[in-house]
Amino acid sequence: MASQSLLKLSTEEFINYLKVNGIKRFYFVYDETERKVKSSHTKLAEIAEFLSGDKRDFIKHEGLFFQLTDKYDCLLSAFVHKTNRGQAAGGVRFWHYNSVEEFIRDGLRLSVGMTRKNALAGVWWGGGKGVVIHNQKLNKKDAEYRKYIYTEYGKFITSLNGCYITAEDVGTNVEDMRNVFSQTRFTTCIPHDFGGSGNPSVPTARGVVAGIKAALDFRNEPIGNKIVAVQGLGNVGRPLIKYLFDEGVKKIIGFDVNPDNVQLAESEFENYDFTASLVKPDDLSIYETECDIFSPCATGATINKVTIPKLKCKIICGAANNQLEDADSDGRLLLDKGITYIPDFLTNRMGIVNCANEQYGFVDNDPAIEKHLSKDWEYSVYQMTLNVLKQSEKENIHTAAIANKVADELSEVDHPIFGHRGLKIIKSLVENNWEKN
Ligand code: NAD
Repeated sequence: MASQSLLKLSTEEFINYLKVNGIKRFYFVYDETERKVKSSHTKLAEIAEFLSGDKRDFIKHEGLFFQLTDKYDCLLSAFVHKTNRGQAAGGVRFWHYNSVEEFIRDGLRLSVGMTRKNALAGVWWGGGKGVVIHNQKLNKKDAEYRKYIYTEYGKFITSLNGCYITAEDVGTNVEDMRNVFSQTRFTTCIPHDFGGSGNPSVPTARGVVAGIKAALDFRNEPIGNKIVAVQGLGNVGRPLIKYLFDEGVKKIIGFDVNPDNVQLAESEFENYDFTASLVKPDDLSIYETECDIFSPCATGATINKVTIPKLKCKIICGAANNQLEDADSDGRLLLDKGITYIPDFLTNRMGIVNCANEQYGFVDNDPAIEKHLSKDWEYSVYQMTLNVLKQSEKENIHTAAIANKVADELSEVDHPIFGHRGLKIIKSLVENNWEKN
């Protein structure tokens, strides 16, 4: 095994490698002076070299931390990208990957995405992401397994002294967050009955509406008489439809792969000009639908070189994460086709906004939330979307690239009270031999 690249190993083989070498905790941190990534263990130097040399997904991530669980052979991780604006915040994903490289690349990309989303939202958080690698020999739904994993994850997060603040993400549910919260204060998305903010889907839908309004204002078009196609009639899709009808859109066409959600939407909107179609996951008919606005609210990578030529819409704005398969070339194709594309992380921020500051308590029509949905605040979804659209037009650069540029500039701004404290926390973890504790 020693001669085989660690990056090409399956996650199971890698976990075995760690066990054989007596490694339970390990890290990779970026050394700004030497401009390279350092690993906690020489046996893992190959991964540090890969990170140092990677031009695609490694963007000077401040620290990556990992821990093997004693039971069930799961790998816990926290990817801390950037903490200038505050502690690295982002949810924890419960997932499985085919190789170590696939796993690390996903964590790198997801954590950069959170840095950008948080910076564009004007919240005082940096960007990070957690991943727990599921042991495929076990049943993901097993309550005992999940309780153990998420309780251990809470302890792991505590050990990181607050450089990363976790939250709910794909594969993680409210019950899991309860178990995380039982072991750490460094989490958001705490359940309602523990004083947390609960499900963010309705505010997320409102954020998408704000993005659509900015796109229409940019194009100087009214919302009345518009036809909208919504892909995904789930937790965000259905409230989005309600808000859009309230705003006066003429007609909505929904698509979903789940018959229950199609039925739910049909009964919820039976008194509106609404039709819903049950489709197969690879169905392409939605892209060819005659509509003004296409709203992807299902899965990622749906906008790509195959679907773009089919599109009949003028605006794309939805909640799904990572809608463009290739951010650069697909963004350019949309610009050339005259489609106003609103990058997902501009409009779907309300999930993180809803839970980001829950420790400050709640008030009715919370100004801390409502300002994001207003037309006035300079960092509101509406204003940031308009800014990005105007810059994109002026510079003839596609919106995804402009949004990244604006976000990257904002992400360099230090927290007004605590400065770049996350980096200090990471340095102290290294100095205090976190990996040996
Ligand atoms: P959800 O699981 O409740 O709904 C997604 C819906 O999409 C489901 O009904 C599913 O059956 C459907 N779907 C899946 N594949 C499809 C396909 N190929 N064609 C049509 N429908 C398909 O999820 P959600 O909470 O509504 O979130 C929707 C998207 O928005 C996700 O990508 C999510 O990551 C993203 N997002 C959600 C939030 C939030 O607050 N819920 C915040 C930020 C981003």
